[in-house]
Amino acid sequence: MLGGTFDPVHLGHLRSAVELLEALVLDRVHMVPAAMPPLRGEPRVSAAERLALLSLGIGDTPGLVADPRELERDGPSYSADTLASLRREQGREARLVMALGHDAFLRLADWHEPERLFELAHVVVIDRPDHDATLPAALRELLVGREVEDGEALMAHPAGRLLRLRLPSRMAISATEVRRRLAAGLSVRYLLPEAVEARILSRGLYRHG
Ligand code: ATP
Repeated sequence: MLGGTFDPVHLGHLRSAVELLEALVLDRVHMVPAAMPPLRGEPRVSAAERLALLSLGIGDTPGLVADPRELERDGPSYSADTLASLRREQGREARLVMALGHDAFLRLADWHEPERLFELAHVVVIDRPDHDATLPAALRELLVGREVEDGEALMAHPAGRLLRLRLPSRMAISATEVRRRLAAGLSVRYLLPEAVEARILSRGLYRHG
């Protein structure tokens, strides 16, 4: 599972998802837009539109899935609930991975039921070139005894380990920068899939900062 606001989806998300799939030999990566992200402000466009952009961005990419399950739930979009729903679907033995970028990882101890996340899945942190910081004390505590060195170590267990992964194409693309450029009338070409860019421009999304 790669959750996010996807406001909007960009090539940093999509390339990371493909490389994650390959690096960890996963069956699928479910990209799950949050209906109501608990720890940040209201997204700029509706959840349904963010899902439509995500589906368009994924296109026919093998192994990537635009997963609407958080849009089908009421209330805040807690990752623990999403993982629990994936766990119910996939069964107790399946290897589940929750992937997130280093910036999101730094706040993991503040998430809803952080211990439960590890009961349900492995946590894999994707290095981002623009986010390097030391870990807060509460997070260090949460991670004690969980860290493993490589993807092989995740194979033997269905959940509970932490892996920090440097993917081959570290991309310094953020949705914040994409939104800033759109609001300023600047080009976003090659930051997003062309179909996503075309839909954003034709609908005038993110035009006002
Ligand atoms: P914003 O700039 O609005 O905060 P974002 O670009 O970080 O957005 P999110 O939708 O918040 O995008 O990200 C979803 C997940 O993907 C998060 O775990 C985030 O860390 C990760 N992510 C986002 N951009 C990248 C990138 N360029 N490389 C690797 N991971 C990324």
